Amino acid sequence: MKSRSQTHLNFFALDPVVHLVLYDNFLPFLISSIPNTMRNTELFERAQITTPGGVNSPVRAFRSVGGVPRFITRASGAYFWDAEDKRYIDYIGSWGPAIVGHAHPTVLKAVQAAVELGLSFGAPTEGEILMAEEICRLVPSIEQVRLVSSGTEATMSALRLARGATGRDKIIKFEGCYHGHADALLVKAGSGLLTLGNPSSAGVPADFTKHTLVLDYNNTQQLEDTFKAMGDQIACIIVEPIAGNMNLIKATPEFLKTMRRLCTEHGTILIFDEVMCGFRVALGGAQSIYDIKPDLTALGKVIGGGLPVAAFGGRADLMAHMAPLGAVYQAGTLSGNPIAVAAGLATLKLIQHDGFYELLSQQSAKLAQGLTQIAKTAQISFCADSIGGMFGLYFTEQIPTSYAEVLRTDKEKFNRLFHLMLDNGIYFAPSAYEAGFISSVHDDAVIQTTLTAAEQAFAHLSES
Ligand SMILES: *Cc1c(COP(=O)(O)O)cnc(C)c1O
Repeated sequence: MKSRSQTHLNFFALDPVVHLVLYDNFLPFLISSIPNTMRNTELFERAQITTPGGVNSPVRAFRSVGGVPRFITRASGAYFWDAEDKRYIDYIGSWGPAIVGHAHPTVLKAVQAAVELGLSFGAPTEGEILMAEEICRLVPSIEQVRLVSSGTEATMSALRLARGATGRDKIIKFEGCYHGHADALLVKAGSGLLTLGNPSSAGVPADFTKHTLVLDYNNTQQLEDTFKAMGDQIACIIVEPIAGNMNLIKATPEFLKTMRRLCTEHGTILIFDEVMCGFRVALGGAQSIYDIKPDLTALGKVIGGGLPVAAFGGRADLMAHMAPLGAVYQAGTLSGNPIAVAAGLATLKLIQHDGFYELLSQQSAKLAQGLTQIAKTAQISFCADSIGGMFGLYFTEQIPTSYAEVLRTDKEKFNRLFHLMLDNGIYFAPSAYEAGFISSVHDDAVIQTTLTAAEQAFAHLSES
């Protein structure tokens, strides 16, 4: 009996010339002959038949802002296009990785060259050494590093290492910080001071989160009190030093300095989760801005340049606890994948160009200040903030400093702004609680187009 997969195999084993003719001529013709209007809606409906909610990561579903998610067909520079061939200025940049703009020719070339040599070996490669050396050189607190495939893996492994190295179980995280979806980190604060976290997702046993303490971001006193009560039982603190998963919220220097001091005093390991802010806010990450040395750092997003690379690393004496040297187990079939590493290395080279971060900071500041001014003219309660290639938009008077403050911003206004901008071809993060991202090719013309659209949008908002 001929199975379905065999038929597919035979199809793909076509003579190369026939293959070329099919793919380069026939298929694009077929696709372009499908009427364009309503394609996003059609695709969304179809996606929901075989994929829960129609998406492979929840925020993509537009649940927070409502409406039909745009299905993206291609991207270039500061733009991407949806299935209806509508062009958008992209302010999510794949949630961080697209820092040099989409489909940068240098990155594409590196990937294409790597592809020719084979896709994955399950044995070490020189590219992984280059990547590790580059990371250690750019982030001095990282003496040794291990490559993994997602930020979730990086933070999960860093936690295991911290617990393995200290022999302690308790960990501290902060409300509103996101560290991927490992069980111990899917927690929300219980009621009352110093209560342990409750699972924030079904399927996470309370037993798995009972060692996770959830504290308020930027609350230095609470941190002091917690360490006074149980500092010697705490394996690690994990924190986004610049938070990008509850909109953009910056830590105060005092908060991070206190954290560093308390960790040192109590033998607690300080983990900076720089999966989002690493290589995004500055070449050396948030730790270079605050001048604080964490014991371990988690990286991701930018370091893969759009392909799945993440990493965790830090003090060599801690990293020595990792298998195969030590007793803390961690592994990955596709860890340090040669294609992904090629994209990452090419991206890490590009961001070291002179003035790269100055330009990025300038452009995001232009956007934030421009929007703030426009809102002021329209007499709407709004403010914006930025750092490096990240920005935050808040429908409130004062830039928030904690999760609780972010929750008090006007979500309905944000949702209306989001859709007004989307209609005008500007794609902001589809949630009031996410940060925004720009790339080095978001030039003045791109920012100006955005601000012009924003003038109309804010005028609309103030009318009603
Ligand atoms: C995105 C993110 C993660 C998770 O990374 P994935 O690659 O999505 O698993 C972890 N921490 C932070 C701070 C992030 O922004």
